[in-house]
Amino acid sequence: MPMTALIEIPHDLLPRDGRFGSGPSKVSDAQVSALVASQPSVLGTSHRQAPVKGLVGDVRRMLAELYSLPEGYEVVLGNGGSTLFWDAAAFSLVDELAQHCTFGEFGAKFAKATDLAPHLRRSSLRTAEPGSIVLPEAEDGVDVYAWPHNETSTGAIAPVLRPAGTEGALTVVDATSAAGGTLVDLTQADVYYFAPQKSFASDGGLWFAFLSPAALARVEAIAAAKRWVPESLSLAAAIDNSRANQTLNTPAVATLVMMRAQLEWMLAGGGLPFAAGRSAESSTAIYDWAERTSWATPFVTDPVHRSPVVATIDLDASIDSAVLRTHLRGNGIVDIDPYRKLGRNQIRVGVYPAVDPDDVRALLACIDHVADRLGS
Ligand SMILES: *Cc1c(COP(=O)(O)O)cnc(C)c1O
Repeated sequence: MPMTALIEIPHDLLPRDGRFGSGPSKVSDAQVSALVASQPSVLGTSHRQAPVKGLVGDVRRMLAELYSLPEGYEVVLGNGGSTLFWDAAAFSLVDELAQHCTFGEFGAKFAKATDLAPHLRRSSLRTAEPGSIVLPEAEDGVDVYAWPHNETSTGAIAPVLRPAGTEGALTVVDATSAAGGTLVDLTQADVYYFAPQKSFASDGGLWFAFLSPAALARVEAIAAAKRWVPESLSLAAAIDNSRANQTLNTPAVATLVMMRAQLEWMLAGGGLPFAAGRSAESSTAIYDWAERTSWATPFVTDPVHRSPVVATIDLDASIDSAVLRTHLRGNGIVDIDPYRKLGRNQIRVGVYPAVDPDDVRALLACIDHVADRLGS
């Protein structure tokens, strides 16, 4: 990549915080303060004792409050992040056959996990081009319908709606990047799972899932009679441990402390409408900017499918995204890279609730400043 001298952005244009990654994402100062405050009472203490169990209990209770959890749903957690949850789902949630909607990398990864599982039938795949979406449809024999709520690799958001004619099947929704920054009707999902490093502004390594009564029953039935399930992938074991505010093995305590702090902030601000409102304000600013900028275009053509939490913007040939990003990084503005495998001349901006909409407006001014000097 040709690189001349760094374009210095005037101080008054810069965002106060230059982190716009899609995951891991900006951690707030309040979360780091909470971490410091948990020393020595919680950090470095046993996860089988009251302080850490209380922490896990707080996180479970606050998630239930944030989502006004429907009757009978439970908050379950475990180690390994959303990627591990895919394998756990292949063992503990899919009875015989899963249908997956894939329109990007993350949806495709879960599809691969069930498709290659030797104890399941080959998965049924419904695919759409990156930048668009496809929805699940009733199909004979399918007992799990799976799709991402927000496809983080492309910045496309799909509705969470139970497809008609699928009674008895489970809807299993990857909300890794959607949860905490997007409104949803949870009664439409039997399983809504996510990880802490996106809208919850924490570190990775854990997974969380809201499980409906039907999902809880499916896990129990498979564990009781269907097949051997490795302990670390057993959702039955995760449910048992979660009910006791524990995890099967040692969790990342610091991640839980930061997660609780972010949940406190979200609830104090007004809950999910507040958090989702911040992301919507930020992403709308980006899409509006792209619509009025001659060399920028929202990648997702249908405005309804444009993600409120991860905005992807194509640049025309006059602005090289890699050059632009190098100049921004030199000024402390980081991680607006497009998803690796998409291979487009693009920027992808993570605007989870922790990101200040004022900082997003500053980011856009900084991009304009650099672009002007790159000769667009
Ligand atoms: C980030 C992400 C994942 C992977 O999460 P890990 O916790 O790193 O495994 C899965 N799905 C979606 C939609 C994501 O955004």
